[in-house]
Amino acid sequence: MKTVREPARDIKVWREVDVVVVGGGPGGVASAISAARTGAKTVLIERYGHLGGMATGGLVNIIPNLSDITGKQHIYGLTMELLNRLDKHGATSYPKKKDRGSADKKAVDYYLNANLGWFFVRKDLAGQQHVLYSAVVDPEILKAELNDMVLGAGSELLLHSWGTQVIMEGNAARGVFFESKSRRQAILGKVIIDATGDGDMFVAAGAECDNECDNKRRTAWLALVWWMTNINLRKFDKFKASQPEKYKELMDELVKLGGYPFFFRGILKNQPNTIWYHSMLPQPQRTDAMDVEQLTKIDIEARRRTVITHDFMKKYLPGFEKAFIMLTAPQLGTQGGRRIIGEYTLSEKDMETDEVFEDTIAVIANNDYGDISNKHPALCIPYRCLVPKSVDGLLVAGRAFSSADTINETFNIIPHCIAYGQAAGTAAALAIKAGVEPRKVDYKALRDNLVKQGVNLPKIERSVGSVASNDGKKDYFQKYRSQ
Ligand SMILES: Cc1cc2nc3c(=O)[nH]c(=O)nc-3n(C[C@H](O)[C@H](O)[C@H](O)COP(=O)(O)OP(=O)(O)OC[C@H]3O[C@@H](n4cnc5c(N)ncnc54)[C@H](O)[C@@H]3O)c2cc1C
Repeated sequence: MKTVREPARDIKVWREVDVVVVGGGPGGVASAISAARTGAKTVLIERYGHLGGMATGGLVNIIPNLSDITGKQHIYGLTMELLNRLDKHGATSYPKKKDRGSADKKAVDYYLNANLGWFFVRKDLAGQQHVLYSAVVDPEILKAELNDMVLGAGSELLLHSWGTQVIMEGNAARGVFFESKSRRQAILGKVIIDATGDGDMFVAAGAECDNECDNKRRTAWLALVWWMTNINLRKFDKFKASQPEKYKELMDELVKLGGYPFFFRGILKNQPNTIWYHSMLPQPQRTDAMDVEQLTKIDIEARRRTVITHDFMKKYLPGFEKAFIMLTAPQLGTQGGRRIIGEYTLSEKDMETDEVFEDTIAVIANNDYGDISNKHPALCIPYRCLVPKSVDGLLVAGRAFSSADTINETFNIIPHCIAYGQAAGTAAALAIKAGVEPRKVDYKALRDNLVKQGVNLPKIERSVGSVASNDGKKDYFQKYRSQ
């Protein structure tokens, strides 16, 4: 391979802070807010001109699995704060409290008819469908609210800034280089939080990581989300109901041409004529978000197929005559990628042990593993999944948490990444206050602090060897193993 040598040069230090967060998606935003609120001088840098990552730029405006199938809510903390803020703008919608966990036919049918079953409805062991607590949000209002939350927490924010390298002191990360229109600059920090989703910073720091992913998983594929609007869905529904065979024939033809036959509706509040396409591009081999040539190829291919779908639907599907493409996601959807090898790696077996870890930083509804989910409707996440095994001064927030690909696929969605970020930011600030490396953070202090922030965590009652949730009721978790 031909190479050239980059000449050494002195780089301007733009800031010296406590915590540097790289990446402003759900994990990064939550990290910056919680680090700043916990007293750390914090900077968040993001490569694009807006915050939110996939939740905004990827047009992934669904925040599912806030409750389990019984309707019991597990996700609180910053996700709830965010939804409350969006509510003030009428920029979110979700099932009423009385409907969460309900098997009421009317409530279930509402979500099924809106084609939102995937996000809002799950079956219990007897096959009965129940409504989950999930929310859809307006990504434009979300972008503005995230700016306000980050700045309001006291964190500095630098957009249009791409983190490229980690500044190491021995085995510890102590700053980053970033590129922008102001050219390459540096930020020095005591703890770096990699919230790039893709692990750009931990790779630069030389931390051990894993990139294995079974090609059958959603996380193995890149995807482009897009919206089509100005559709007469009533007319479309009538056609589909009256001529199901013709409809199937047309969709088969569309697939043959390379188009997308499946869409969701109801994902954009107050826009009943807009539909949401989640265009996954399953390939013979896994697509790699870390390969710029593949990213380019997939983006071009996805757009070509989007137009095929648009043309076909307009030409042949009643109701689509005046439809048009409202928006394609400004950023190609990366669903999985590199994962840090942490002090603990979460695997499928953790779902069945009901383990309450001493360093539990989040409790997450487990809705997507069929029978296992029904028997074990929640999962505890240990802080050690955010702590690289081999590098100090570094934490990982978001979808790159330490996990097997099996578990990562299910537990890397937006509310989960917000929870991981809230824990990482808080831990970074506590580590700095205590003058220790993040891996040495006092777990109890971390948990207590998160509970004060409104995070739902199990109380660990060592004396009786069982746990109760914050609301005082006995939870699913009966076991506690000392680390
Ligand atoms: C098509 C698709 C559908 C999905 N469906 C759902 C769903 O319905 N509900 C749900 O909850 N989740 C869904 N997910 C998953 C979810 O969106 C992601 O797992 C989640 O957003 C991950 O959050 P994150 O903060 O780890 O990473 P991201 O959201 O990817 O955010 C990473 C941020 O870091 C920035 N960044 C990256 N590299 C750098 C760098 N070097 N320097 C500076 N900034 C950088 C990026 O621009 C981005 O803003 C879906 C994902 C996709 C792609």
